[in-house]
Amino acid sequence: MPDKYSAVWVSHSSMGDFLKCPRLYYLHNVYKNKNGRKISIISPHMSLGIAAHEVLEDLANYPSHERMDRDLRARFEEAWLKVSGPIGGFSSLDEEEQFKMRGKEMINNVIKNPRFLPNKCIKLKRETMAPNFYLSEDHNIILNGLVDWIEYLPDTDSLHIVDFKTGKHEERDGSLQLPIYLLLCNALQGRTVTKASYWYLESDKMVEVTLPNKDEAFNAVFDVALQVKEMRVQAKREGEQTFACPKGTYNDDTKAGGCIHCMPYEHIIYDDGQMEHVGVGGFNQDLYKEK
Ligand code: SF4
Repeated sequence: MPDKYSAVWVSHSSMGDFLKCPRLYYLHNVYKNKNGRKISIISPHMSLGIAAHEVLEDLANYPSHERMDRDLRARFEEAWLKVSGPIGGFSSLDEEEQFKMRGKEMINNVIKNPRFLPNKCIKLKRETMAPNFYLSEDHNIILNGLVDWIEYLPDTDSLHIVDFKTGKHEERDGSLQLPIYLLLCNALQGRTVTKASYWYLESDKMVEVTLPNKDEAFNAVFDVALQVKEMRVQAKREGEQTFACPKGTYNDDTKAGGCIHCMPYEHIIYDDGQMEHVGVGGFNQDLYKEK
């Protein structure tokens, strides 16, 4: 039996970082500071997503006929308390209020038209970690992730996977999100996924998307996961420079190098006063926001 603790764990977020650039992957997913913690950046957009997801995903814990009796507005207020203030990345009360209003509007949209939420749903089995499985035992790679919602479709005894979107931008083609969801569902429960949708909560738009087939999904995810694994193995041999920026890693003396994705992390590491430590996150990571 392979050892889960020595495996390389990959997710939509970590592979997304890796696809942007290796150094971003390193700074967000590998690097640990003097407290032994990873570092993460929180923004108002992320906090809005966290609060809205918490309210909606929690509904799966209740029987279908009770779900829409829940006071979703009150639940949103509770969820918002956890991201309120600097720990949510907000720089002012005004900014926070604007984002909170957007969240309230999303919850109002859900209350007006809950779509599939009152239907039967399925939860993937998990222990303390997010649902996960061995993407490859031979390569010791584990894929983990949370599917926002899985509706059960009784007519076909199959599943509809739904991703809640709280941003304004539509998901790009070629994103690994759906392939990852499909692989998680296939590995962790017995029914076939026959439908997938994005629910843009702010515009209340449901967009059905074409599912990749199983082999395409596996190949797309495994290809990136293996690159991550190989780079980590190389880094063990050759050190941190394996994850250097291909365009020139940021140099704090000359201020050269770096780009928009990595700069906030570089500012944290160089402790140059541009980022503010706002607390410790749920995964024991040190959280920062832009000043
Ligand atoms: S700073 Fe370099 S490594 Fe980081 S995201 Fe930008 S180009 Fe990629």
